[in-house]
Amino acid sequence: MVRVDFDYLPRENPCAQCGKPIPAPEWIENGPRRTSYLWHCWACDYQFEAVAFFDDSEADTDALAA
Ligand SMILES: [Zn+2]
Repeated sequence: MVRVDFDYLPRENPCAQCGKPIPAPEWIENGPRRTSYLWHCWACDYQFEAVAFFDDSEADTDALAA
């Protein structure tokens, strides 16, 4: 059973370069138990990616045991 919590959408993430808040991620990629967010700062044109890991009770810890 897959459950993705779309209620968790990061907003107002501060730019990694200039610190200005970015209202919402420009691009989102969903993966297994994680979501990648691409942030694009309108102030300094800096782009960076952040990854959110979801704590799924059904998650298998083997993935972390590499
Ligand atoms: Zn910036």
